[in-house]
Amino acid sequence: MNNKIRAIVENSRISVKSYSTEITDYAFETICNKNNVDDAIQLLIGQAGDTLCFDAVDVYEFFGERRKVIHTFSWEAPGVRMLQASNFDYTVTKSFLEIHKEDKIISLLEINNSNHLHRAFLHGYGSNGQEQILISAIWEDGDIKGFVSFSRMDAIKLTAEDKRNINTTVNVLATYLLKLRVVETVRQKLEFIKNYDLLTKLPTVHKFKKDVKTLLCKHPNKKYAIIYLDFKNFKYINESIGEDAADGILVDFGRNLKEHYSMLNCIGRIESDRFVALLPFTKEEELIRQVQKNNEYFRFQMKKKSIVNNVFLCAGICPIQFGEDINVAIDNANLARKRIGEGQQVQCKFFDQEIKNRIHREIEIEDSMEAALLNNEFVVYLQPKIDLRTETISGAEALVRWKKSETEILPPNEFIPLFERNGFIIDLDYFIYEEVCKTFCKWQEEGRRIIPISVNVSRIHLNDDQFITKLLTLVEFYQIPTNWLELELTESIFLDDKEIALTTMRKLREYGFCVSIDDFGAGYSSLNLLKDMNTDVLKLDKEFFRTGTMNKEDKIIVSSIVNMAKQLNMKVLSEGIETRSQSEFLQSISCDMAQGYLFSKPVPINKFESLLEQKDNNK
Ligand code: C2E
Ligand code: CA
Ligand code: CA
Repeated sequence: MNNKIRAIVENSRISVKSYSTEITDYAFETICNKNNVDDAIQLLIGQAGDTLCFDAVDVYEFFGERRKVIHTFSWEAPGVRMLQASNFDYTVTKSFLEIHKEDKIISLLEINNSNHLHRAFLHGYGSNGQEQILISAIWEDGDIKGFVSFSRMDAIKLTAEDKRNINTTVNVLATYLLKLRVVETVRQKLEFIKNYDLLTKLPTVHKFKKDVKTLLCKHPNKKYAIIYLDFKNFKYINESIGEDAADGILVDFGRNLKEHYSMLNCIGRIESDRFVALLPFTKEEELIRQVQKNNEYFRFQMKKKSIVNNVFLCAGICPIQFGEDINVAIDNANLARKRIGEGQQVQCKFFDQEIKNRIHREIEIEDSMEAALLNNEFVVYLQPKIDLRTETISGAEALVRWKKSETEILPPNEFIPLFERNGFIIDLDYFIYEEVCKTFCKWQEEGRRIIPISVNVSRIHLNDDQFITKLLTLVEFYQIPTNWLELELTESIFLDDKEIALTTMRKLREYGFCVSIDDFGAGYSSLNLLKDMNTDVLKLDKEFFRTGTMNKEDKIIVSSIVNMAKQLNMKVLSEGIETRSQSEFLQSISCDMAQGYLFSKPVPINKFESLLEQKDNNK
C-alpha cells in the first residue's frame, strides 16, 4: 500500500466504538449468511486488516497432540506479497505468549528484542521485512490455542484506540475460531463413529465395505472370501459373566482379528457378537483350516485367561471377486454360517451350490405356502402307535405332508424348519389340529373305534398366551373330548424357556389334554428334566434305534429311562422302530408303546382306517 493511499485511509479511520460495533455486526452477519465458519473467519480477517490498514493478517493455531503451530488463515492487502511465515516452534511460541500474557496486544517493536525468547520467536517470521508486527494470543479457559498476527511493512506508532480495535477483532475472531474447532472435533468424532466401532475400535460394516471395494479394485484377479464370524450362544456368556466382562471378550476378539487378519486391513464388526473379515485364498480347505485355527486359538486364549470355557465361534465363508456385490457376499457368508447345525463339530462353512439351491427352494416355498393352505395341499398322514403288550393299534400321530401334485409329495423337513422361522407354522398347525378334529367327527359318525391322535406343537406356540384358549375353542366347536387329542412338545422346548414349557404342559393337562414329550433323550440333560415334568407319555427319540440291532449302551439307557418313567407314572413310547429285534427288546423291558416302519409308515387317513379295521378284525 503506498503512503498516499495509506494517509487517506488513516484519515478516514472510524471511531473505536463504531469500529467495534461494525466488526461484531459484520461478524454476526457473515456467520449467519455463511454456514461455513471457515469462510466467515476468512472474511473477518480481511475486513479487520482492511479497516485497520494492515498489510497482512495471519492466524496460527496450536494443534496440541501434534505439538505444532499451524498457519491456518491468512489475508494480504491487495498488491502485497509476503512469504508465508510458518516456522514457529511450538515451545518457543507458547512460552513467549505466556510471558506476555498480561498484554492483550504485543507490539514486537515496542518490547525489548535483546531477549533470547523474543529473538527466537521473531525468527519464525523469516525475513519479510515487516516493520510493525502486532500479535494477540487466542485464549480459551486459561489455555492458549494460538495467536493472530497483524503486520505492516512500515512502522507507525499505534494509539491506544488502535490497540483496542485490534483487541476487539481478535476477541471476535477467537470466538469463531474456537467454534470452528468445536465443530471440527464433533465432525471428526462423527466421522469416527461412522467408520469405527466404539467398543472394539474395529471398522464398522460401512467402512469395511469401502475397504473391501478398494482392495478388490487393486487386485482384480485375486481370489478373496468374506468370513462372517459369530459367537455361539453369546447370550449365555452375557448371562454367566455379565455384560461388561462379555464386552471384554468382544474387545479381545477385535484385537485378535487385528493381529491375525489385518495385514490387509479388511476387518470389521457388524454388530453385537458378529464380525467380518476379507481374506485372500487359493484353496477352500486351506482357508477353512486357517479360520478354524484362529477360532480355536482364540478359544484357547479365553480358556487360559479362565474367562469362560465355551467360547465357540462359527464362521460362514463366501468367495468374492472384483465386480461382485459385497452386500450379497456378506449375506451369503451369513447364510452359510446359519447352516452350521447345533452341536456340530464343524465350525466353518462355505457358501456352496447346496445352500444356493436351498435358498432358491425356500423362496419358492414361501411364495406358494399361503395358496397351498387354501387349496388343501397340506394333508394329514397318520402313523399308528402300537401297544406292545397287546400288539394292537392304540393311537396315532398326525404328520403333515405337502401334496404339490399327485406325484410330488414334500416331507415336513423340507418346509417345517422354514415355517418355524417365518411363523407360518402357526397357521399350518391349527389347520392340522382342525383336520384331526374333523377326522374324529367322521369316525364318530361312521361308528368307528376312536383312538387318540397326537399332534405336534411347534415351539413358537408357546409364546402365544392364547394358545390354549384357541385349542379349547377348536375342540368345543367340534365337540371333541380333550383326552382324544394328545399334544407332543419336543424336549428342546424345555431348554428355551423351562418355566413357560412346564406351565403350558401343566395347564394342558388340567384341561384334560394328553401331553407327551417328543424326541426325549435327543442329546440334552433330559434326565435332570424328568423329575420336573409331569407328562403322560415320554416319546423316546428314534436316534436310540437308528441301527437295526441296538448296542449295549443304548439298551442300558433305554431300559433305565423306561424304569424311571414307570416310577414317575409316565408311559413310554419308542419311536423309529424298524426291526423285530428292537420291538422284542422293548417288550422284554415292558416299554408301553412303539411307533415305526416295522408296523407302518405314516399313511393317508383312508389308508389308516383300512389298516385299523384290518388289525381289529385280525385280533
Ligand atoms: P417327529 O415328530 O419326531 O415325527 C416322527 C418322524 O419320524 C416322522 O417324520 C416319521 O415319519 C418318522 N418315522 C416314523 N417311524 C420311523 C422309522 O421307523 N424310521 C425312521 N427313520 N423314521 C420314522 P416326518 O413325518 O418326516 O416328520 C418329521 C418331523 O416334522 C416330525 O418329527 C415333526 O417334528 C415335524 N412335523 C411333522 N408334522 C408336523 C406338524 O403337523 N406340525 C409340526 N409343528 N411339526 C410337524
Ligand atoms: Ca412328533
Ligand atoms: Ca419324535
